[in-house]
Amino acid sequence: MGLIAWGTELATRWGWVREASREERPRTCVFCEKIGRQRAGVDDGTFVHEDDELVVFRDWRPAARRHYLVCPRAHVASASALRPADAALARRMLELGKECVARDFPDEPDLETRFGYHIPPFNSVDHLHMHAFALPFTPPWKERKYSVEPWARFAFKPAEELAAELEAAAAAGAGGEGQDGADGDNTSRL
Ligand SMILES: [Zn+2]
Ligand SMILES: [Zn+2]
Repeated sequence: MGLIAWGTELATRWGWVREASREERPRTCVFCEKIGRQRAGVDDGTFVHEDDELVVFRDWRPAARRHYLVCPRAHVASASALRPADAALARRMLELGKECVARDFPDEPDLETRFGYHIPPFNSVDHLHMHAFALPFTPPWKERKYSVEPWARFAFKPAEELAAELEAAAAAGAGGEGQDGADGDNTSRL
């Protein structure tokens, strides 16, 4: 990787390059392609929900009793690219994930679930996706990849925590000083 590309990558990851590059789509994105095929009517049999903003489909290598991915249709690189203005999106992704998982187990009000995001560079696909699980993990050791232990937050972030942080940042920004300050303020670094 050239020095410039490396610098850009670093700057993007830390939020110094914002907005303009946020939704820039890489030349190939497996999730954009998958979602595009579905929209074109080529059903691959994995989608369980579609609306104008979000889709939900089964993970191709399920790690739990139920394992869905909730994605925005529009390309957003990762959880690290989310800004306070995306608080509603993050909340909606969580609510939809809960709905889809709960729908599969109507007779289990005490169903154990988990919802969260891999944080780059620990994400597998560079298109924002929230993992939605009905537990247990199968086999159980797969839990490690989606651990919500406090020490593992740098790699996998609980969806509730991410949504709450964005909401808090949005509320703080709305109440505060001028909106379009210098680069860097109001930027939540996830
Ligand atoms: Zn994409
Ligand atoms: Zn992931």
